[in-house]
Amino acid sequence: MSEEIPRLIVDGKRLDGRDFDELRPIKIEAGVLRRADGSCYIEMGKNKIVAAVYGPREVHPRHLQDPSRAIIRYRYNMAPFSVEERKKPGPDRRSIEISKVSREALEPVILKELFPRSGIDIFVEVLQADAGTRTACLNAASVALIDAGVAMRGMITAVAVAKVEGEIVLDPMKEEDNYGEADVPFAFLIRNGKIESIALLQMDGKMSAEEMKKALELAKKGAMQIYNIQREAIMRKYSREEEEVE
Ligand code: UDP
Repeated sequence: MSEEIPRLIVDGKRLDGRDFDELRPIKIEAGVLRRADGSCYIEMGKNKIVAAVYGPREVHPRHLQDPSRAIIRYRYNMAPFSVEERKKPGPDRRSIEISKVSREALEPVILKELFPRSGIDIFVEVLQADAGTRTACLNAASVALIDAGVAMRGMITAVAVAKVEGEIVLDPMKEEDNYGEADVPFAFLIRNGKIESIALLQMDGKMSAEEMKKALELAKKGAMQIYNIQREAIMRKYSREEEEVE
């Protein structure tokens, strides 16, 4: 029997009442883990994610060391209880792919040459998933890296755009991701408050060139809003530290 596809847009609004260009509510907190060098907790809609950064630190095994720069490792992991159908613990094809593309998005932003022979390990743990986890993880990882004091060229800020019932919509949630016509996660390098380049771009489904242009504009608009929330989270953490010192 075929599954019934729910209506995703009713009277110009999305299932959760959002406009097409509206993000889900976002909450970001830096420095949530005591034992990591840097950390971040993020909620983007119903996604709940923790990022932890260790390093720069000595790399083991030693033969992996690079005498000219730090090596970056990124592990994306979904908790078994994070999704509707229990997720089998351990890496799978999807998590290996997400880890790879996310590492590649972050690598050029990190000033790796400053930390020869060392390693920077980034762990992201999805506690609750509701679509857009790879982008939410990148937002958290970026804040956690800054929290760890890792020198960066800028901030990585990520958000997905989807095509749903022919409309281009920002930051799709699970139903839109599942039943929509296309899903396009973006990550941007933002420097001095300006989008400088695209750090990640994937695409699942179909969009016309015109729709893709619109998707990029929408993603940029959403990314600037997220960027401000990332910055605020970092500022809050530093002012908290200052108060503690005083
Ligand atoms: N998902 C799931 N089980 C899985 C993998 C994914 O239920 O094993 C859900 C989860 O909510 C995830 C969504 O499907 O956020 C979309 O997954 P996708 O691969 O598009 O990555 P994401 O949008 O999370 O970056």
